[in-house]
Formats: sequence, structure tokens, C-alpha cells
Amino acid sequence: MNANASPAPAITFELHPSEQRVPDGVRASLLESPGFGQVFTDHMVSLKWSAERGWHDGKLEPYGPIVLDPATAVLHYGQEIFEGLKAYRQEAGQIVTFRPFANAARFRRSAVRMAMPELPDEAFVQAIELLVAHDKDWVPASPEQSLYLRPFMFATTRALGVGRPASSYLFLLIASPVGGVFSGGLRAVSVWLEREYTRAARGGTGEAKAGGNYGAAFAGQQRAVDHGCDQVVWLDATEHRWVEEMGGMNLFFVRGSGPAARLMTPALTGSLLPGITRDSLLTLAPDLGYPVTEGAISVEEWRAGCESGEITEVFACGTAAVITPVGEVRGDDGAWAVGDGTPGPVTMRLREELLGIQFGRRPDPHGWVHKIL
Ligand SMILES: *Cc1c(COP(=O)(O)O)cnc(C)c1O
Repeated sequence: MNANASPAPAITFELHPSEQRVPDGVRASLLESPGFGQVFTDHMVSLKWSAERGWHDGKLEPYGPIVLDPATAVLHYGQEIFEGLKAYRQEAGQIVTFRPFANAARFRRSAVRMAMPELPDEAFVQAIELLVAHDKDWVPASPEQSLYLRPFMFATTRALGVGRPASSYLFLLIASPVGGVFSGGLRAVSVWLEREYTRAARGGTGEAKAGGNYGAAFAGQQRAVDHGCDQVVWLDATEHRWVEEMGGMNLFFVRGSGPAARLMTPALTGSLLPGITRDSLLTLAPDLGYPVTEGAISVEEWRAGCESGEITEVFACGTAAVITPVGEVRGDDGAWAVGDGTPGPVTMRLREELLGIQFGRRPDPHGWVHKIL
């Protein structure tokens, strides 16, 4: 990018706080069991971009519906990107987020891939700080609950011509208090190896956090459910053999156990989404004494490793569900268990450490925690 080469004016947000906030008692009962992405806070942040004006009209305003012309470009051609991060209420009372500048940088990379304008990192983080500060009462205080933040941007140009990207965009930030993603507490999930549908191919948009990737993935996830599994595992688009991701999460494999345990995660080949949780574990695991490599693992190696006992644990990771153990694998040619099918000790240790940093129960040696209030 981008079209606005002259020095950009500073991005500012006007404050229009809500005069009809959800009453305290109603909010408290919503926070008792918020589910995931069903309850939203009092406010949202919006910011426009146009080829003529660049970024403009930044606002914090009451959460509410937006009106779009039926010819709005995103509704036809899917030019949309998003991010996902959380605000945590730590035990000492402060409210923090986790590595928001990493999300800001990924948002810019997604924008470049989708031929959209790049939002400066400072404005991305400023929007988050503003929304969390105004909706601080929505940051849950219960263990493992948090405020999920969803920044996103889409093409708003009213035109059906397909020759070029849109010339106007809307950035929005909304927030939703959340409990765990997978209901019913932490348990190992079962996964379906999808051999026909693929999520992403090299050169495609798999590296970008684009809504269209999810639109294209629902049929595979539906197949997983049809086969009695919780989640789909995506394989490479060429050979349908190399393991890439689980649903919207990255995967880690544990070989060996006790002091000999070591980790492997599929390398970022161009079709995987570069998760910030994945990146954090690449640093955190060695801190805890588990060596990590980025590599490749085929379905056959996964099965043989579990059958010989070499692969002891498998888990998925991402912001929403943190770390989710994988207990059983099913595919066209049979099923197998990972370990004894229950959450393993390395998985649980990493989960506890990561949550410990986020919730302020552990030191933060890498400066990942970003204080808001
Ligand atoms: C968002 C996402 C992840 C996880 O990324 P985090 O930054 O760790 O939340 C993994 N895979 C896909 C496809 C995703 O969309």
C-alpha cells in the first residue's frame, strides 16, 4: 500500500458514549455464562478509509446495527479481514491485553494480501485501548473468562464492478465477554482428517485472517461433525497428506515424555495462518525446557507415531480456546487415539503457563502483556 502517499494526518477517535448502557444487574447476569461471541458490550469503535481522504471519521459510539447498500462490495466479493484478541482482568485488578501489536501487524499483512488499506499499528491498538476503557465493566472477573475483541474491516464501496479493489472501507471493533470456546470444560477433542476439501493453498489467502477462509471451511467442519468429530483437521491442498491446522487453530505434536518431551509444529508454508499463540509457544516451550521445531508431519507419521507411542500428546492452540488437547483422530481409513485420549501433562503445563502470564499469575519475561487500565 498505499494510495495516500502524502504524510497522513494523525488518526483520532471522537467519543460518543452510549446513553443507554446495559444496566448493572442485567450485565452481571449476562456475565454469569456468556458463551462465546453471543453477548456484546455497550460500545464499538468505527473508522473509515477512502482513497480521497485516507483514514477519517474515527469514533467510539454505541454498539449497534450498521446500514449497508445492497450493492456494497463486501457482500458480493468478500473483501473482509479480521483479528481476534482478548482483554483479561488480572488478579491484581488491572486490565491487560496480550501482544496487541502482533495482531496489529498481522492485520496489516492480511490487508496487503486482500488489497486493502493498512491501518497503522498505533491506531489499531488505540482503538482497543479506547473500547476496553469504556467497556471495562464488561471484562469478566471469573477465572478463564475474558473480553474477546474483534477488529475487522471490509469494503464499503457501492459498486458491482470487479476489475479492482474497493475505494472505501470501514474498520470496526466490537467486544464480547466470553467463557471457554468449547463448552463443558477442558476435555480432549476428536478430529476428522478432511481429505477432499482443503482450507487453503500456497499463494492463496490461507496466511491472511480473511472471513472468506472461514466461509470456505464450514463444509469441512460440517463433515467432521457428520463423522462424529468435534473439529476438522486440514491437510495440504496438493497431496492431502501433510497436516496443516485444526479448524481455526494451529497444531502442536509432543514426542517423548517427562524430561525428554519435545515439540513440533507444522512450519508456515504459506497456507497456514501464523497464530500468535503458536508464536508465543515457540518461545514459551523452550523456556520450560521443551525443545521445539517447526517441521512437517504427514497423516501416516501421525498415526504410526501414536501407535508406537513416540507421539504422546497433540494439542491445538489459538486465542479463542487457548490450548485444546486432541484425543482421537478419525479419517477415511480408520481411527486412532492420541496417548490415552485424555489431556496430557505437557499440554496442561503449557496451557497453565500461558494463561498464567495472561492473567498475571506468572511473570511476563517477554513483555507480552500490554496494560490498559
Ligand atoms: C486466528 C487463527 C489461528 C490462531 O491464531 P491466534 O493468533 O493464535 O489466535 C489459527 N488458525 C486460523 C485459521 C486462524 O484463523
